[in-house]
Amino acid sequence: MNNALIADRLDAFASLLELSDANPYTVRAYRRAAETIRGAAVPVADLVRSGRVRDLRGIGPGIEARLRELVETGAIAELEELERELAPDLVGLGRYLGLTARRSVEIARALGIRTADELREAAADGRLRSVPGVGPKTEARLLEALAREDEPRPKRGLLLNRARDLVEGIAAALAQPGLALDSSVAGDVRRFRDSCEHLAVACSTQEPGPVLERFSTLPQIVALIEQDEQRAVGVTVEGVPVELVVAGPHRFGTALIRATGSAEYVAALEPLPDGTDEHAVYEALGVPWCPPELRERAFRGEPPALVELGQIRGDLHSHTTWSDGRASVEEMGRAARERGYEYLAICDHTPAVGAVTGLTPDDVRRQAEEIGAANEVLAPFRVLRGIECDILPDGRLDLPDDVLAELDWVQASVHGGQRMPRREMTARVEAALRNPHVSCLSHPKGRYIGRRPENELDLERVFEVALEEGVALEVNGLPDRLDLSGDHVREALEAGVEIVCSTDSHSVRGLGNMELAVATARRGWATAEQVVNTRRLSRIVARRSG
Ligand SMILES: [Zn+2]
Ligand SMILES: [Zn+2]
Repeated sequence: MNNALIADRLDAFASLLELSDANPYTVRAYRRAAETIRGAAVPVADLVRSGRVRDLRGIGPGIEARLRELVETGAIAELEELERELAPDLVGLGRYLGLTARRSVEIARALGIRTADELREAAADGRLRSVPGVGPKTEARLLEALAREDEPRPKRGLLLNRARDLVEGIAAALAQPGLALDSSVAGDVRRFRDSCEHLAVACSTQEPGPVLERFSTLPQIVALIEQDEQRAVGVTVEGVPVELVVAGPHRFGTALIRATGSAEYVAALEPLPDGTDEHAVYEALGVPWCPPELRERAFRGEPPALVELGQIRGDLHSHTTWSDGRASVEEMGRAARERGYEYLAICDHTPAVGAVTGLTPDDVRRQAEEIGAANEVLAPFRVLRGIECDILPDGRLDLPDDVLAELDWVQASVHGGQRMPRREMTARVEAALRNPHVSCLSHPKGRYIGRRPENELDLERVFEVALEEGVALEVNGLPDRLDLSGDHVREALEAGVEIVCSTDSHSVRGLGNMELAVATARRGWATAEQVVNTRRLSRIVARRSG
């Protein structure tokens, strides 16, 4: 157990003690101990074991006992109990409703509930009035406030796009004249994690007071659950904690590295010298600067030249009004051209997709006319004739080979029947990849982040077959898919398979998700050479005929 981890647990303990209205001196003592441990040059776990931890400033017998428990058992029992009882999302919702932390907890206890969602449910069922001290008036007020609340969202982990909007909004609001000199998104968002739990913003300022004050009054933040001179943690209405770190300009780079994480990555760099920006800190460490997407695990080496958004020359997976898209072929093509692309493949669905309209062979040929007309208008930009062809449960494709042979780009996709056992699913996908007309396997794992688990699929086998058949694998940029994930991209590339960064856009705006697809590929250490759609149109077309 490293110092950062121990310090984090003590900080969490301090926050929860504060929520439970504990003695403020105790709370502050834990915060100070956490700070001391975070900055300690020696492993605190060793000091605890050798009985010398009280040599550190600010650590008395009470905290020593907690530390011993943490080091010996890996947990602090009382902390876990408080976490169970004081679910931060419940307290966050309570604050939003105008309840103190203590009152939220009392109500939760009386109702036998623990989460914000359960509180919403209890309110909807009319159970609030069964709580001692909640009269009809209070109940009406709480119900009214709940009705104004947005849709309940998942408690743990925000989708990347939602998390980005949130922290970018906060960072921009704090970088105003008279507030922060500089501000940056940090935390999981800066590393482009597919599900963001640690939301953070770092600010540079000589005067932390006004920045912290402004943070607490932002519309995104309904309550502060933690605050000291350098740092605050607020919760959003969904109960999602957002951390704000403020640092003087001379150590902003250092603070930004720490706030960006991951904890494991930062721990392997510690101790960090002060630096005005990240480059200064890395230089002082004698370590090459590392793109945030690669800061998931310990790494001090030379990073590869990761693929960049600006190197993408086209998008190979998009939909139009022919299936479930919202824009026409020409509108999509024009928008792609405005992004500076050379090409866009229109890949509408085939009939087996079920829930939406799919293209029959006749439709595919009628669409060809529309694509031809768009190309006359948009040349030299090229709209490619593509398809997102369903892989049927037996592994056959949903369109006949002669139709597929006419197309410039064929995405093969599993949509229905995703609960298949691993062996069948792998055989099904393998059969599709063996079809000589298939260019790319869409969203290979079929996950919906936070909603549906990944398909049972033997990826290693898929990589082998894809390599043999010259089929690329997609990195789908839809925020709830991001499939392949970064880790899987890395495995695919190590196996020698090429990837395609695609948006699967269903609207002009959806084309913007290329940034997420590229970031996900970067998390998988992809370089431009490994990404098919960094290549010129001639090479995309040659790939088909070759
Ligand atoms: Zn699809
Ligand atoms: Zn699609």
